[in-house]
Amino acid sequence: LRVETAEPYEILIEGGLLTELPEDLPRVINTRKLALITDETVKELITEDLARILEEAGFETKVFSFPAGEASKRMETVVELARSMVRAGFDRKCVVLGVGGGVVGDMAGFLASIYMRGVPYIQVPTTLLAQVDSSVGGKTGVDLPEGKNLLGTFYQPKRVYIDYGVLASLPWEQFRNGLAEVVKYGCIWDRRLFEFLENRSQLLFLYDPDTLEHIICESCRIKAEVVSQDEREAGLRRVLNFGHTLGHALEAALDYEILHGEAVSVGMVAAARLSEALGVAEEPVAERIEALLERLGLPVRFPKEVSAEKLLRFLASDKKVWHGRLTMVLLKRIGEFAFYENPPVEKIMEVLEKL
Ligand code: NAD
Ligand code: ZN
Repeated sequence: LRVETAEPYEILIEGGLLTELPEDLPRVINTRKLALITDETVKELITEDLARILEEAGFETKVFSFPAGEASKRMETVVELARSMVRAGFDRKCVVLGVGGGVVGDMAGFLASIYMRGVPYIQVPTTLLAQVDSSVGGKTGVDLPEGKNLLGTFYQPKRVYIDYGVLASLPWEQFRNGLAEVVKYGCIWDRRLFEFLENRSQLLFLYDPDTLEHIICESCRIKAEVVSQDEREAGLRRVLNFGHTLGHALEAALDYEILHGEAVSVGMVAAARLSEALGVAEEPVAERIEALLERLGLPVRFPKEVSAEKLLRFLASDKKVWHGRLTMVLLKRIGEFAFYENPPVEKIMEVLEKL
């Protein structure tokens, strides 16, 4: 799959793909010195084996790791990694290879974009979320105590290697975290993908290879289509925020003590209901989306401890960021979105209170 950004790159998707890295890498990079950036969990599960395969093929590799989890996604970690790389003799002629979930991907990409003014970046996403979402779009970055992703760059990888075989060790909770984004793509862009998910939930539970390949390919294709039309997030790219406006409000209200996909799941139900309440939806959408999410084990109701008022407060701070305008992504039907500016607060309140 080709991603047509200013600097186009390819995403390869295949089970067992990691064993083919030594053969394929020289097609996109011209150095044999690789810094493998990873978290400690993924290091044990995947990265050390990958490093061995690369070493055997004549690459010079070194693994740099940090504790797993969002708490590591900070400038301090980037500085530590960079200092370790300098001490290990990595100069401008090296390549950064990020092996891990979205945290590794965002941070390794950021590091690659600023290390000695930029070195090539190769991405090996190992969570479903990272494979279907952060592998496309070129966003990199770290969090600040003041908020998430506040420091970062746009930096496209030279190539992305998606081996869905590595998902075998991924806990179901993390797996469905990524599935929420796949449901999102179906809702806004592709009715067939949505129906595929409806029909294949059993196979999804089994991490069936063909089913995985299909949802990953379709998700990357859709995100690539959207992003290549709007690389810097001015217009169309906002469709990817379906379920995220209220989802982010929920995450913030719970102080991020909820998985992103879970918050987005409830957010999508709310957005679908709002689509109906505002007469945007030309067919019933909410019930069907809710049924699918529920079948996948994702939450479809706001937790009791979060009041509708509280959510609205966090929504209002979102609005400030967008210069007083809140554009919500709603649905005309399953597979077709509609932008909606400043939906009336009473309607949002009505929907939230029923959830
Ligand atoms: P994560 O990277 O923290 O991974 C989740 C957990 O799964 C970690 O504990 C990790 O060690 C573990 N893990 C990873 N691969 C595994 C495997 N194969 N088997 C077993 N365990 C494995 O989190 P995430 O959900 O992948 O990503 C979330 C991050 O991604 C957030 O920081 C978010 O901001 C970012 N993100 C970025 C983009 C983008 O466009 N750049 C898009 C979406 C999300
Ligand atoms: Zn998301």
